Amino acid sequence: MCGIVGYIGAEEAAPWLLYGLTKLEYRGYDSAGIAVFEGGNIRVAKAKGRLQNLVDLTHGGADFHGNLGIGHTRWATHGAPSDINSHPQTSELGKFAVVHNGIIENYLELREFLSQRGVSFVSETDTEVIAQLLEYYYTGNIFEAIGKTLARVTGSYALGILCRDDPNTLYAARKDNPLIIGVGQGENFIASDIPALLSKTREVIRLSDLEIARLRADSVEVFGLDFEPIKKKTEHITWDVSAAEKGGYPHFMFKEILEQPKAVADTISPRIRDGRIVLDELKFTREELVNLDRICILACGSAYHVGMIAKYIFEEMLRVPTEVTIASEFRYENPIVSDKTLAIIISQSGETLDTLEAMREAKRRGARTLSIVNVVGSAIALEADDVIYTWAGPEIAVATTKAYSTQLAVIDLLAIYFADLLGKLTPEEYAVLIAGLEALPGKIAEALEKKDAVQYIASQCFNAKNIFFIGRNLDYAMSLEGSLKLKEISYIHSEAYAAGELKHGTISLIEDGTLVVALSTYARLFEKMRNNILEVKTRGATVLGLFTKGGGAESSKADFALEIPQAPTMFLPSLAIIPLQLFAYYIAAMKGCDIDKPRNLAKSVTVE
Ligand code: GLU
Repeated sequence: MCGIVGYIGAEEAAPWLLYGLTKLEYRGYDSAGIAVFEGGNIRVAKAKGRLQNLVDLTHGGADFHGNLGIGHTRWATHGAPSDINSHPQTSELGKFAVVHNGIIENYLELREFLSQRGVSFVSETDTEVIAQLLEYYYTGNIFEAIGKTLARVTGSYALGILCRDDPNTLYAARKDNPLIIGVGQGENFIASDIPALLSKTREVIRLSDLEIARLRADSVEVFGLDFEPIKKKTEHITWDVSAAEKGGYPHFMFKEILEQPKAVADTISPRIRDGRIVLDELKFTREELVNLDRICILACGSAYHVGMIAKYIFEEMLRVPTEVTIASEFRYENPIVSDKTLAIIISQSGETLDTLEAMREAKRRGARTLSIVNVVGSAIALEADDVIYTWAGPEIAVATTKAYSTQLAVIDLLAIYFADLLGKLTPEEYAVLIAGLEALPGKIAEALEKKDAVQYIASQCFNAKNIFFIGRNLDYAMSLEGSLKLKEISYIHSEAYAAGELKHGTISLIEDGTLVVALSTYARLFEKMRNNILEVKTRGATVLGLFTKGGGAESSKADFALEIPQAPTMFLPSLAIIPLQLFAYYIAAMKGCDIDKPRNLAKSVTVE
């Protein structure tokens, strides 16, 4: 998920590798390392924490002498951030060094395979299996070893590979993770993103999925998995550095919104095997589940809104009373928690102080704790009894989008998994839900295709002073997140209301032209929502309605309508959030707001 660089040429590799990594720092990371070919050996240096630690350790690279090397900034997914888990990862006999971005989904199986054949592992990473497999399959032909290794791994990767027997070649490969080749004069490069290369070259080749590259100082060759050469186009980059760091997008938030199909797929797909949900990481037995008398969800901000959705879904599917509490409130309210309580803790950073302290409180009172966290090795992940990671990758924009969506995906996985354990689903119902889960990334992508329509509606509304979001049931929980997103980045005042509650007070605030965003994706409550839409229209509101395809947009009387794809009810929030995020984003962009760093907000809130 984070940064890769590689160099082959006539100059010292290490100083440039370190420089290139600084240009990838924006991608977020927790440790870094380099490997340089030196005197017939591959020499490695790695350091946990900021890149500066590695720079200090290697004296800016001056300690290394060699013209071929690879470098990495790691954003830990498998194994906590540590020197040992940092990349490059090397094989047992030191023949191969590998830097990797992505996740090897079947790494446990491969680790087992190699361990049975006498290979010892030193790190906890999924990446190490690649280095070890390369050595295992290597009988003198590096290409063959790479081919056999890639044929065994499932998941995503961008790879930079060095082999001790080949001091003049840098190998690279990719699948579902970015990797580009920089073409220079008598020197060539690999990198995860363009900014790393711009000081050296603007001639770039984009490696495609399942391609292997062989770089020498004076040549770049690309091959398919069948080792047939592939002719690649070289592209001339004209962008400036700051645009390149966002991959050409104007804001990280927009980039992250568009990354959601992949983030959700990365979160779901390793956990479905042969049509069944497999949560290897969860140590929860059926007996423990049956013994629960309640679930209590603890979170803040958007993660709290995920909890709201979880409440509806869990209560519907599990029939277990589920309460969602704002973490900062929970600590001071003498909560009713016992050893029959499952506390689910949701936090992107895993360091949110209010949430961490609420979890500790729940633990003290005997609850079993299960955390849903994006950052490996973070405090909440380490202290919870169980952790399920969201594989959203680093999220840089302060307002969450892809982390939120992956949290929802984990809630879906858990709900189906628990419902099945409790015997609440027939095999047919189970199969329908698994199919729904598997289809989700594609449907999110479909929802994203409507972005121009959302942009047009935003252009009609961006001057609004007050915006109301209304919905019922799951749509109410979505209203809360839609409203928060808008407030966070556009600074427009907004309130989310349960649609039936509006008439008990707030409807007095509706006047001519007030914008009301009415969420009506929940088919069972469509008629009720239509009444609520009429109620506000009668009082002068302009209504933007959100419906499912074929779900009544025409008969709703909304002034503007947006549609999301049809899906089983529990998945609709994952689709409804897309136009809501885009709406907030476009409005903030039209108002010229500092979208990625909204005023007064911090990404990870580590104060009470
Ligand atoms: N999955 C790998 C690890 O945890 C690579 C993470 C990354 O992309 O930085 O080591």
